[in-house]
Amino acid sequence: MIEVRNYVGGKWVDAAGERFRSVNPVTGEPLAEAPATDAAGVDAAVRAARRAFDDGDWRFRKGSERGAALLKLADELERRARPISELIAREMGKPVRVNLAREVEGAVDKLRFFAGAARLLEGRVTGSTASEIWDMELPEPVGVAALIIPWNDPVDLAVRKLGGALAAGCTTIVKSSEITPASTAALVEAAHDCGAFPPGVVNLVSGPGEPTGDALVDHAGVDKISFTGSTATGMRIMGRAAKRLARVSLECGGKFPAIICADADLELCLDAVSYGAFMYGGQSCTACTRLVVDRRVYDRVATGIVERSKKLPIGDPLDPNVLIGPMASRRQYDKAVEYIRLGTAEGGRILVGGIPNDPSSLFLPPTVFVDLPPDGRVAREEIFGPVLAIHAVDSEQEALAVANNTPYGLGGSIWSRDIGRALRLARRLDVADIWINTHYVRHVETSFGGRHHSGIGRELGMAGVEEYLSWKRLCIDTREKFHLKSWFEAGRA
Ligand code: NAD
Repeated sequence: MIEVRNYVGGKWVDAAGERFRSVNPVTGEPLAEAPATDAAGVDAAVRAARRAFDDGDWRFRKGSERGAALLKLADELERRARPISELIAREMGKPVRVNLAREVEGAVDKLRFFAGAARLLEGRVTGSTASEIWDMELPEPVGVAALIIPWNDPVDLAVRKLGGALAAGCTTIVKSSEITPASTAALVEAAHDCGAFPPGVVNLVSGPGEPTGDALVDHAGVDKISFTGSTATGMRIMGRAAKRLARVSLECGGKFPAIICADADLELCLDAVSYGAFMYGGQSCTACTRLVVDRRVYDRVATGIVERSKKLPIGDPLDPNVLIGPMASRRQYDKAVEYIRLGTAEGGRILVGGIPNDPSSLFLPPTVFVDLPPDGRVAREEIFGPVLAIHAVDSEQEALAVANNTPYGLGGSIWSRDIGRALRLARRLDVADIWINTHYVRHVETSFGGRHHSGIGRELGMAGVEEYLSWKRLCIDTREKFHLKSWFEAGRA
């Protein structure tokens, strides 16, 4: 069993109170044990981060120096990529074939981007009323940042926040998910072992939302909360943070539609959306969950998706050929199964997949629904499992009405060979991230975020560093006489 400890002020420490276990979703065996950090343990981590920010030199270091530290962490993580990838596979079931390149090596690339970004922070000299006045806006780090992450990308999602916050000059407390404490701790271990960060700049606490997350969100020493997770938790965090006006950014849930026009390259589209829907069991915020299909190609799309769904390799996530592992936890499995039941109750017809006969394992096959009402719960709510709904439509307007009929606004894709049509649809699809004729293509240089119930704020790109900045205005008057002098003189006369 892996023993996970908190990391506070540059040291691995034991936290008092209860402990919890993460479980290998393939075997059902406990994998790691970690502290369910209480308010006192959270306080220790926040104090360490506070000291490092207020009394340390991290925030005053040149961007090149903070960048050099991030490069060292990138190198250390790269050296450990294979074992960390296998640990993720064992702790939450994401296949190594998917997580090695997409998650761990992707995180290395992100750290290298943020290392460069640290050198590119710019202030501004703004329009002054006279040339003798220097009116400036200076970026400063916002302070101590609490970074709360979910389990589905336990290294990559931490790096998106950590890279941006550290590049900006913040000090940090990472809170891992209770499903994946060991995977995120492996990242923090690389940060410790690379020796590049002063004590207190990077801290780690393990534990669930209550008590650990709540204590972190409520702590007066935390200036900024950056959260990735479900919309319900995001709303709760925002409500609590509002009581002390702590800054918040939220990356929340999604319900990704793919609009498939009759003129789409269907082979390309079907390969991409079946991968996009079912890769690691649909446990991705940008998983493709709904196909909104021109009725003229509906049958071909339905047949093509079913064929591909049957061929996707499911099994042991450590097997290099496997694309779909188990659901990450019993809770996630039960939630997806509940939605499959609900889909049938709502009048949906299952073309392939469905609820397995043996509920003792956490493997769920790709499941494809047709005939679901577009305004039903299965069509509108986030499932976070391998469940895809196909809706037939007769016009662009109807396609948009169905695609936009959810509270979420994270992303979507559009499939058409007519670029005018694709761009017209893209303007009207009410989401923050759109792929045209592709899926899962992303670059660290371009920022990412959601609208509506999918969140507030951006990650990655320079915007992902700016989230951790606070602006200060600095005005310098070089004139030798106070500009209201004549006003005083007039008063005396
Ligand atoms: P979750 O909301 O249950 O938990 C996320 C994190 O918040 C965990 O660390 C959890 O311990 C913590 N938490 C829970 N209650 C808290 C509280 N009261 N205060 C502070 N922290 C608290 O979500 P999850 O099941 O771990 O993750 C799945 C969700 O994450 C899905 O909705 C998915 O769409 C979303 N997600 C979004 C993105 C994105 O970029 N938009 C990326 C990945 C996942």
